[in-house]
Amino acid sequence: MYAVQVENLTKVFGNFQALRGVSFAVEEGEVFGLIGPNGAGKTTTFRILAGLLPPTSGKVLVLGKAPGSPELKRVVTYLPEDAGTYRNLTGYEFLRMVSELYFGRSREAEEALELGVKIASLGEKIHEKMKGYSKGMKRRIQVARALMVKPRLAILDEPTVGLDVVHAKEIRTLIKEFAREHGSTILLSSHNMLEVEDVCGEVAIIDRGVVLLQGKVRDLLSEHGARNLEELFF
Ligand code: ATP
Repeated sequence: MYAVQVENLTKVFGNFQALRGVSFAVEEGEVFGLIGPNGAGKTTTFRILAGLLPPTSGKVLVLGKAPGSPELKRVVTYLPEDAGTYRNLTGYEFLRMVSELYFGRSREAEEALELGVKIASLGEKIHEKMKGYSKGMKRRIQVARALMVKPRLAILDEPTVGLDVVHAKEIRTLIKEFAREHGSTILLSSHNMLEVEDVCGEVAIIDRGVVLLQGKVRDLLSEHGARNLEELFF
């Protein structure tokens, strides 16, 4: 079963064609990376998958359903590139709010909150107001928010955007650990080839609205005799 199937997806904004026939498929349980330069169409593709933007044409299935279907609400999470936080809530209060929005006041909500706190790993700072958080801390809370409900599919748009190398690595580690422990499918985007190589089993390279290549990182490297993805493309 595919978690995501995209075939010949196009998106036109006015007279600009952002997606020109994007095709790729993500198997369930995979950590999959969509790599591409600025403006390649990653965010547009993710917003379509999240049901926030209608495609112009093409086939798009998320866990076998049309994006935005009510059945997907509880099982698919989406982390936008520019996700905001509530400045006056503590990280803990924010995660509690999200878990209760999902599960009401229940045992499940408590478990999700517990997992969110573990993923965020902010120690006692989880009880401080988010307006005092660094970029890295905010991003950890946002990633925790997307993963704490144990989604079948998490769509993470540039989870390490704007972070220095240390914080980016921490986020990568927590995504990898989460995927291993919970078996969720994770679809993430990045500009950074080395990052994608570190986290993802499979990748698709998108540029100017088309997917140039898709495959398991291992296979792509051995087929092209490259030591890393950067060497494959530059
Ligand atoms: P980045 O890495 O910079 O986030 P991206 O790969 O996510 O890039 P998109 O945000 O999907 O790229 O943008 C693809 C192209 O579509 C860009 O040229 C962008 O300017 C254009 N675009 C995106 N949204 C709109 C919109 N609402 N109206 C007009 N053009 C848009």
